[in-house]
Amino acid sequence: MNNRYSRQELFSPIGKGGQERIFNKHVLIIGAGALGSGCAEALVRAGIGKLTIVDRDYVEWSNLQRQQLYSEEDAKNRLPKVIAAKNRLLAINSSVAIEAIIADASVLELEDWAKKVNLMIDATDNFETRMILNDVSQKVGIPWIYGACVGSYGISYTIIPEKTPCLSCLVETVPLGGLTCDTAGIISPAVNMVVSYQMSEALKILVGDLDSLRNKLVSFDLWKNQYSAIQVDKLKKVDCPSCGKERSYPFLSFENQTKTAVLCGRDSVQIRPSSQTVRDLEALEQLLAKQGGTVQRNPYLLSYSAPPHRLVVFKDGRVLVHGTKDISEAKAVYHRYLG
Ligand SMILES: [Zn+2]
Repeated sequence: MNNRYSRQELFSPIGKGGQERIFNKHVLIIGAGALGSGCAEALVRAGIGKLTIVDRDYVEWSNLQRQQLYSEEDAKNRLPKVIAAKNRLLAINSSVAIEAIIADASVLELEDWAKKVNLMIDATDNFETRMILNDVSQKVGIPWIYGACVGSYGISYTIIPEKTPCLSCLVETVPLGGLTCDTAGIISPAVNMVVSYQMSEALKILVGDLDSLRNKLVSFDLWKNQYSAIQVDKLKKVDCPSCGKERSYPFLSFENQTKTAVLCGRDSVQIRPSSQTVRDLEALEQLLAKQGGTVQRNPYLLSYSAPPHRLVVFKDGRVLVHGTKDISEAKAVYHRYLG
């Protein structure tokens, strides 16, 4: 037990002092997919004190190719990703306090969570959540590390409030596009590369060595053998709505919140109820069973198969409609079975 972190302490930029600082930190990871599982495992092995992981989804077979924390058993049981992740992470390092939250990272909650942590890691799969994360980071004043990958391509950048340009500053000038996963698929080395970039920056922040941060937006394509690092210091905008002098935090306003979202590469639509609810899954199971079709339930979610669609209902009221990318079709299915 005593020499658990000896190799990391021997690494002089960390040392025993840095190791202690890592232990006193709390990190929030948004997303428990490929990047989220990689980052969570790295932080837990490195001896982080507390980790909060948020994800809205459950484990599926198509995740196993690259989402390193999950097993076939998790996919069979349709375990929520954060629950499966927590189980695995505690088996790796039982001394870390791990908080698993099954939820959509929406504005209100994100602000609350952000106030309690020292650093946020972006492991989401969509642009909207990243922009919310960006605004929250500026408002609360804590750093976040952007990361994304698709195909054999990956990109990462570290945002320190009051110091670096924010993601909003870069959106118009730097190519961040092409990141829709339903068109290109993904290979795991691209994931691991982004995780490495994010986690080395995270360690620097956690031990307080900000001078060693990269200060560049880095991107690569492992299949095409391309690499680029863009110096972005000069791109900080005085009139940026997120980090400039007069801020409006546009992505934190209610109007910019979508109630429905087409999920990345999933042929699925998520519908979020307009007010916060708690679903009684047991009662719903009985109700749906009367309508025919197959109902399955675990403590966290209920799955109802009504071909060609399948509905997955979470306790917090969110519903995933599988089998369509069409929002109005998904809404029709939602109302037919769930009122
Ligand atoms: Zn900005």
